[in-house]
Amino acid sequence: MSRRWVFGDQLGPHFLDDPDDGQVLLVESLDVFRRRPFHRRKAHLVLSALRHRARELGPRAVHVRTVTYREAVEAQLERAPGERLQVCDPTSRAARGLVQRLASEGLVEVLPARGWAVTHEQFAEWMRRRGAKRLLLEDFYRDVRRLHDLLLDPDGEPEGGRWNYDADNREPPPRRVRQLADAVDVGEPWWPAEDDVDAQVREDLDRWARDEGVTYLGDDGPRRFAVTRDEALAALETFVTRRLAAFGRYEDAMLAGDRWMAHSLLSAPLNLGLLHPLEVADRAVRAYREGEAPLAAVEGFVRQVVGWREYVWQLYWHLGEDYRRRNALAARRPLPDWWQDLDAAGEVRARCLSDVLASVREEGWAHHIPRLMVLGNWALQRGYDPAALTDWFHRAFVDGYDWVMVPNVVGMSQHADGGQLATKPYVAGGAYVNRMSDYCGDCRYDPRLRVGERACPFTAGYWAFLDRNRERLAGNFRMAQALRGLERLADRDDVRRQEAGRGPGAP
Ligand SMILES: Cc1cc2nc3c(=O)[nH]c(=O)nc-3n(C[C@H](O)[C@H](O)[C@H](O)COP(=O)(O)OP(=O)(O)OC[C@H]3O[C@@H](n4cnc5c(N)ncnc54)[C@H](O)[C@@H]3O)c2cc1C
Ligand code: SF4
Repeated sequence: MSRRWVFGDQLGPHFLDDPDDGQVLLVESLDVFRRRPFHRRKAHLVLSALRHRARELGPRAVHVRTVTYREAVEAQLERAPGERLQVCDPTSRAARGLVQRLASEGLVEVLPARGWAVTHEQFAEWMRRRGAKRLLLEDFYRDVRRLHDLLLDPDGEPEGGRWNYDADNREPPPRRVRQLADAVDVGEPWWPAEDDVDAQVREDLDRWARDEGVTYLGDDGPRRFAVTRDEALAALETFVTRRLAAFGRYEDAMLAGDRWMAHSLLSAPLNLGLLHPLEVADRAVRAYREGEAPLAAVEGFVRQVVGWREYVWQLYWHLGEDYRRRNALAARRPLPDWWQDLDAAGEVRARCLSDVLASVREEGWAHHIPRLMVLGNWALQRGYDPAALTDWFHRAFVDGYDWVMVPNVVGMSQHADGGQLATKPYVAGGAYVNRMSDYCGDCRYDPRLRVGERACPFTAGYWAFLDRNRERLAGNFRMAQALRGLERLADRDDVRRQEAGRGPGAP
């Protein structure tokens, strides 16, 4: 007899050969939480998901609580000697290393990864066809759409005549509103109701903190994200029918009074393996076909789910083991305490940063632009160590997993790969934040100022970043205009002095 060992991010039916049959092994490892502090909300989410799955499977599942995965595997094979343990290729290099070691000892059989729109073989073939051409998300994404017939017309051409509707998406937020719903028809996100499994998880997490030396980041609070297949499907349905239409247009916008905007909140259930990315994309495409959402919004969303998400997954493996240690801009500053603890003491006065850190502290979540253009931008400007930053993001975000954090932080947000993933650094001054949010109006700083008491630390930091990295960035033609601006800066020495003296304190 065979039994499928599923990791905590392989919880959907597609990780089993027959969703209604077959034996399963689920392992809860205390070691993971002992090693380093994770966000309390994240610990809750992953445990709740695993335990809900165990309950759903009932007698088909062996659910063990041990210190390490190896112990669980060995114990299971002792309990059921003739049993064959199979596992789908896991999502991190560390877990892959472990299952391969166990396989070489004859303890488990490793099956190909599941839950992706593109297999590693298909990606390798795509790379081979490209030859020496640069890796480009846009080309990859178009081929994924062709491969799965997503948003194509009967002639195989992109629906509406264009592959990319970015020009219709990514507007600033509506003015003089507190929440997006004040200006646009957008429903509330789907929220779960906690149950007895959640109550038990909460009790256990408290006990581990008391008796086992486990520590957490951030605040506890009601669970926000789906942990079962049924919940994930409900969250998908709510998003598609009530929120997707507003998604593309305000995808990049931020409002202090609305941290969710029109985002899907599906990264957590997707990364837990509860939804398959193709079923998510298909449902969004159906919404377009049935007139529930406009093409630009649907295209923007499909691009995220089967474009970006698949792309970073493939690049995580393709770019190699050492990619996580890349540091092309020689950024070596340690993360300050106020950053590490998510501004627990409320010291940060820069309004955008304070608000985004509060969102991470309270929810373990912020949408893409706060991650990239507030947190990532700040860390890039200040020269935080990219590996330490990756670890922090991984632990602080409910949807953080190694495969998705490494490319997004090292490559996309910190340019530590020298431009393999993004052609130019995502660095911007306060003018960007001011255009894309309502933060600056009530901030003690002024986004237009780069020197003095009221100078916006993002604006000053932008110029200081360019100044510090001007030689490293000189060959990048997409940075040429910014570097010419630096040459013309009358108060460049003042900015340099001011920022060099800034120290690690909260801005
Ligand atoms: C510095 C940084 C760190 C990030 N860390 C993570 C992470 O740990 N886990 C994670 O899932 N996403 C991460 N992202 C990508 C993205 O910010 C989140 O997926 C998204 O904000 C989650 O919210 P949502 O589900 O409402 O997404 P939506 O805005 O509704 O987007 C839909 C889906 O697209 C996918 N997606 C979009 N962009 C990306 C991307 N760049 N990489 C991978 N998937 C993407 C996600 O699955 C997401 O659920 C990171 C981005 C940055 C810049
Ligand atoms: S003025 Fe600067 S620090 Fe203040 S909210 Fe705007 S960008 Fe952030």
